Amino acid sequence: MGMADSTIATQCCIAGGGPAGMMLGFLLARAGVHVVVLEKHPDFFRDFRGDTVHPSTLELMYELGLIDAFLKLPHQKVETLTGHVGAEHIQLVDFRHLPTQCKFIALMPQWDFLNFLADQAKRYATFDLRMQAEATDLIEENGRITGLIAKTPNGALTIRADLTVGCDGRHSTVREKAGLESDDYGAPMDVLWFRASRKASDSADTFGHIEAGRIMVMFDRGDYWQCAYVIPKGGIERLKSEGLEAFRSRVVEMSPFLADRVGELKDWDDVKLLSVTVDRLRKWQRPGLICIGDAAHAMSPIGGVGINMAVQDAVAAANRLAGPLRVGRVTGEDLEAIQQRRTLPLRFTQWLQLTVQRRIIAQVLETRERPKPPAFLKLFNSFPILRRIPAQLIGIGIRPEHIRTPEAAPA
Ligand SMILES: Cc1cc2nc3c(=O)[nH]c(=O)nc-3n(C[C@H](O)[C@H](O)[C@H](O)COP(=O)(O)OP(=O)(O)OC[C@H]3O[C@@H](n4cnc5c(N)ncnc54)[C@H](O)[C@@H]3O)c2cc1C
Repeated sequence: MGMADSTIATQCCIAGGGPAGMMLGFLLARAGVHVVVLEKHPDFFRDFRGDTVHPSTLELMYELGLIDAFLKLPHQKVETLTGHVGAEHIQLVDFRHLPTQCKFIALMPQWDFLNFLADQAKRYATFDLRMQAEATDLIEENGRITGLIAKTPNGALTIRADLTVGCDGRHSTVREKAGLESDDYGAPMDVLWFRASRKASDSADTFGHIEAGRIMVMFDRGDYWQCAYVIPKGGIERLKSEGLEAFRSRVVEMSPFLADRVGELKDWDDVKLLSVTVDRLRKWQRPGLICIGDAAHAMSPIGGVGINMAVQDAVAAANRLAGPLRVGRVTGEDLEAIQQRRTLPLRFTQWLQLTVQRRIIAQVLETRERPKPPAFLKLFNSFPILRRIPAQLIGIGIRPEHIRTPEAAPA
């Protein structure tokens, strides 16, 4: 069979099947809106992209009546976070008192989360997920975006849509083609992610360790540790030139109990680089188009909020747009209202992240002296109530979204 270009029409076309795009696609389809989600990869099973499903996202699953099914997927619970700053051990965060159904972070592979959303969305006849479909260009008519062009294995696909949504992540094609301008706030670090097997005798904590010039965070993932090693921005080439053995030694210096497992890092392919970016679009929308999630604002990995912020955007967008989309009357005001609603939580979270980057991470990466925790952090060990403050900021954030969209009948 030859390749044929084709055209389809829908109410909402979403470019990108990450947390933002899948959640938005699911909620709109559930509310009776015809939606097409395009994902450029053939499946959701690819590189590690973060696994932290926060209490705010779990609360949304509860509101959707899906929490029991969701928590049947393999996951680990993180109820507290601890830190080692030089010689001191500090109990930093305690999620167990949050006013949410789930008082923990669920560590779950992102592909399980995305497959779960896809399975839920497919129950609605209005949901159309196209894998291996990459948005390459926008269609513009009289200053309004009226759809997009996608590359698929069967040729070009033209999708005409009342609304186009860019959920295609931090290197968004949609945002670039729409000419939306962003402000880059910078980051002093990149993060190297890798795994090391875990033994039953290891600690069950999720913890961070800070030493002169070094930061490492380890998440208990059952039979392995997911490790994040923080390096100065752009430092990967220097690290590679020193060789893998030198990197293994650095890891062991941070966590000596990994000495018998660090050999599992066989080559640099076992180490994934997250090039940290913090940015935010000035304007998220144009007539007929809006960007959300990382496409509108890449988050620093501090607090592991990226997935959850993307999901919050999706819920805010669905709440505002489901009604107008169903009757084909989305206005510029609707789109601006989404940006306005999400700007406060985002600005605040990015401000906190930038403060930690500047005041702690940049200084630790530069120092040669063994770091000491600031006095106020030591109070966290004596006054457990203080650990609830970061739990609230990380686990729920400010002005959390709630499901306001109705459920139309499943297929
Ligand atoms: C290595 C790494 C570790 C991370 N760790 C964490 C963590 O621990 N916790 C956390 O909360 N966040 C983490 N993040 C950030 C988190 O992954 C993002 O903030 C979050 O996934 C944003 O969701 P999104 O849907 O906006 O974008 P993305 O998840 O980036 O999804 C975009 C989707 O669009 C697809 N796509 C891209 N271009 C196109 C196109 N042109 N056409 C069609 N599809 C397209 C991509 O394949 C992708 O599936 C990490 C990121 C990385 C890279």
